[in-house]
Amino acid sequence: MGLLSLGTPLPWSEAKKYADHVRTHGIEQFLAIYRKQKAQQKQCLLWGDEVEYVVVECDEEQKRCKLSLTVFDILAQLQQPEVAVLNGESTETLEALWRPEYGRFMLEATPGSPYGSTFRDLGKVESNMKLRRRLAKEKMPSNMLPMTLVNYPRLGCPGELEPDHEPRGEACQSLFVPDEIINPHARFPTLTANIRRRRGAKVEINMPIFHDKNTPKPFIDPTIPWDRDWFVHDKEAKQGAAKPDHIYMDAMAFGMGCCCLQITFQACNIDEARRLYDQLAPVAPIMLALTAAAPIFRGYLADVDSRWNVIAAAVDDRTPEERGLEPLKNNRFVINKSRYDSIDCYISKDATFKNKYNDLDLVYDKDIYEKLRTNDIDDLLAKHISHLFIRDPLVIFKEFLDLDDENSADHFENLQSTNWQTVRFKPPPPNSDIGWRVEFRSMEVQLTDFENAAFAVFIVLLTRVILSFGLNFYMPISKVDANMQTAHHRGAAVNEQFYFRKNVFPSNTDEENDDYELMTMNEIINGKEHGFPGLVPLIHSYLNSTNIDIETRCKISSYLSLISKRASGELMTGASYLRHFVMNHPDYQNDSVVSPSINYDLIKHVDQIAKGQVKAPELLGDFSA
Ligand code: GLU
Ligand code: MG
Repeated sequence: MGLLSLGTPLPWSEAKKYADHVRTHGIEQFLAIYRKQKAQQKQCLLWGDEVEYVVVECDEEQKRCKLSLTVFDILAQLQQPEVAVLNGESTETLEALWRPEYGRFMLEATPGSPYGSTFRDLGKVESNMKLRRRLAKEKMPSNMLPMTLVNYPRLGCPGELEPDHEPRGEACQSLFVPDEIINPHARFPTLTANIRRRRGAKVEINMPIFHDKNTPKPFIDPTIPWDRDWFVHDKEAKQGAAKPDHIYMDAMAFGMGCCCLQITFQACNIDEARRLYDQLAPVAPIMLALTAAAPIFRGYLADVDSRWNVIAAAVDDRTPEERGLEPLKNNRFVINKSRYDSIDCYISKDATFKNKYNDLDLVYDKDIYEKLRTNDIDDLLAKHISHLFIRDPLVIFKEFLDLDDENSADHFENLQSTNWQTVRFKPPPPNSDIGWRVEFRSMEVQLTDFENAAFAVFIVLLTRVILSFGLNFYMPISKVDANMQTAHHRGAAVNEQFYFRKNVFPSNTDEENDDYELMTMNEIINGKEHGFPGLVPLIHSYLNSTNIDIETRCKISSYLSLISKRASGELMTGASYLRHFVMNHPDYQNDSVVSPSINYDLIKHVDQIAKGQVKAPELLGDFSA
């Protein structure tokens, strides 16, 4: 999330009146950018990573951890050098940029400036991530820990917040978390409340519970305050929103309180950005499974390993009509997915693209599509944008309704930035020197900077291999969606198979072999003996043809080796590691419960791994954090 503008956000009853206004001007703004920037060429690929953190407070005497709600003050201190530069008071080179995230307990950081295209820059990633962790730590009291954990395992359990608050908030109306958990900037509580109001009910998140020996069957969660009636909507849990055999969550914070590792690339031009978008889309579920690191929700072991579907449900603002539960009356479309989900269509005009790969029945706004087509936008891009624009803008600031469409992109970004998909195609901001970009968004944040650097570098190298070898990962988008669901399964990285294209090399015949098949993670990443080449071997052959200094080459090898071993099952994913830790803890009762004492030990252990004080050979092998 970028720097936030200040203003008065409209409640949903007001905001909805301006939905068409925002959409209409959003499209004008997109067109203005397109007209000015469609021919833009950049010399080199710039890129950057984003790492999100949760901040935990530890009481060593009580042996108790809590989630810290004081991060907002720390953020201001972390942003101070950037503010000084922006105000012209300093010319210091910024080492990191800090941004707020949804949770009041979260931080987000990127490198101070983008990385360039050199190999040497790949060598800087890990040390910059370490530096960011240190900078965050320096601004915190010694009992506070910035952690690269996907989610706080006991979020939503009683007594887990510092300072504590009763779950009694107008914005989320949750049975489990108070509004104080939300970033206080007006945008976030409004987003929360408006999603709920638009949907007409609280969000419903149900993740399957992991059934252990002593877990009751069926599992009816005794910790849900079934009879609490602070809000009208509290009846929902009892009325079926909370499903048996599931971990029930009822607020946006359970999803947007999760942390990920994102990578953004600047492409040479718009066509290259569209091509990268398409080629990275089939990779997104593979990387979700391989980076899976979220096996615990609301104090219970889940039967899934990753966050994605939790966030999807946490921001699902679709009305019952849009979800296909009631006939369309007040809404315009039945929509198959949440705003946070995998992409619905490919967008590249590349010669290897075929219409048949876009095999979902795409819902798009026909008027917006026509408007874009009459303004010189081709079919695929017009469909993509008019698909994003089937959504309503959720947060509208009263002061920013009327904007200069030639020089502002706020209305466009309002919709663009609340379509949280596995990959994002990003037009340049108006009047800036930034190019057309693509954001890779599916990866879960890893426990250590070493792993985060490894996955970031892997994705960067993969994009270079895609471009220089002209690789083709196209397969029907419905298969990408199927992989997305498979990726959630417990132990998916070693147990499951994923659809992937068989022949990824460019071919010069029309009779190109379009087949895809189910492959193991090991086959996709490490290759098959007489068949699929494997993504890591492809990267190695690309690297062999290049000049790299020894130090960087060693670093890159260790990163690729981590990825390769995760895929072969020689090393555990973060999710398997955390699950294993819980299940082998002396206090664990084989009942799926992650108690405060287990949580405390887990947090301490993870922090020690991240600091390199404890070795975790099952997770990292010989590599040390
Ligand atoms: N934290 C969200 C995730 O885990 C992403 C939020 C963002 O787009 O920055 O996917
Ligand atoms: Mg973020």
